[in-house]
Amino acid sequence: MRAAPPPLAVDPTALSRLLGIALDALREGAQARGGPFPAGGPGAVARRIAALGAVLPETGTGPDEALRTLARVLAEGAADPAHPLCAAHLHTPPLALAAAADLAASALNPSMDSWDQAPAASALEAEVTAALAAEVFPDAKTPDALVTTGGTESNQLALLLARERHGAGLRTVVGANAHHSFRRAAWLLGLPEPVVVPAPHGTMDPAALAEALDQDGPTLVAATAGTTDEGLIDPLPEIADVCAAAGAELHVDAAYGGPVLFSRTHRRLLDGLDRARTVTVDLHKLGWQPAAAGLLAVRDAADPAVLGHTADYLNADDDTEAGLPDLLGRSLRTTRRPDVLKTAVTLRALGRSGLGSLVDTCMELARDFADLVEKAPGFDLHARPTLTTVLFRPTGAEDETVAAIRRTLLAEGRAVLGRATADGRLWLKATLLNPHTTPADLADILTLVEGSTHR
Ligand SMILES: *Cc1c(COP(=O)(O)O)cnc(C)c1O
Repeated sequence: MRAAPPPLAVDPTALSRLLGIALDALREGAQARGGPFPAGGPGAVARRIAALGAVLPETGTGPDEALRTLARVLAEGAADPAHPLCAAHLHTPPLALAAAADLAASALNPSMDSWDQAPAASALEAEVTAALAAEVFPDAKTPDALVTTGGTESNQLALLLARERHGAGLRTVVGANAHHSFRRAAWLLGLPEPVVVPAPHGTMDPAALAEALDQDGPTLVAATAGTTDEGLIDPLPEIADVCAAAGAELHVDAAYGGPVLFSRTHRRLLDGLDRARTVTVDLHKLGWQPAAAGLLAVRDAADPAVLGHTADYLNADDDTEAGLPDLLGRSLRTTRRPDVLKTAVTLRALGRSGLGSLVDTCMELARDFADLVEKAPGFDLHARPTLTTVLFRPTGAEDETVAAIRRTLLAEGRAVLGRATADGRLWLKATLLNPHTTPADLADILTLVEGSTHR
């Protein structure tokens, strides 16, 4: 007799029982880890994974064992973005409600490539993208936004849309502080390598930009609102003026800084953002979504029309003429998760002010941490933070020492800090994205760094 197939995700009894197992495993794994990061380095982690035995056994171990074992070992070996001492990257601690919404999305499994696989999810996506596009471009007549896997895909799409407007001779101009994804996007799209404009103090120099634009031919300038290394914002109004004077188009990579729009207190930092033609925003950074939650906002909904594509089984012309929404032109992907559900739930649950106050909290944490560094004897602060990134280093340390401190804390599993080069020196980087972080946690970061400096 053949065994019954395993229960499906729509079976609430099965799902809720397995969810209990997964949550227990997460808790046990986190306890075994006992800190923000697994101690012992790559070898120790890889050995625990290898010790699990066959990845594809001839006879399976059953759902309970497999889920408990693998979820536990993953949690034990995780870099835990919800731990206050895990602050290296734009690696966000996801909100519980967003993760729960993502579970609902997984259970329903709508696929966003055709209306007959995602009737409500596609209608919801249309509402959410329209609303978020209007946040970015409040004065635009027909703003729109495409859902992406993140900043990398958004930047690539922005370059693709510009290439389709201007042809493969399009020049792209980026700051020396721009994200590495622009170079790859240009390579992938067959565009000339981006021209790089100096960013002497971590932000693009508008005068140098004006010089770089002193040439004929179509040009797309990519500015950054929230640089990866320092969390700085390029002078957007000046850059927009330079672009307008030179007839160049502007894209702003606000993967990191974009959600500052939700904050009444800080949104002025993004003045000039709406003068861009396209804007990248990630909600899996300052937006507290589990990955992926990327957007490319466009000022003019006509721009993405070039992504239109027909495949008879998904969006036959007669189906479209009969009124079935055509989704294939909303992405370069085909099968696509309904990432918009968790975002929609978060926007509705928290509202603009709720999200804004989470942004404000993280901005305050960064200022508090900068205060601590400034007051602490034996530490240098690189600069007062603009967003939530703070660069600091032990006074007088060699770059090799700074790099070694970071690796020591990783090897011991005690803290996860980033690194960045600024003003020709290597700095430790704390990227504060966890609104539950306390002043005591911030003090712990300095204490730990101090403790591993003189060893
Ligand atoms: C994170 C980031 C990206 C890349 O985004 P992914 O979501 O990792 O693809 C691009 N640009 C900036 C400024 C970023 O901070």
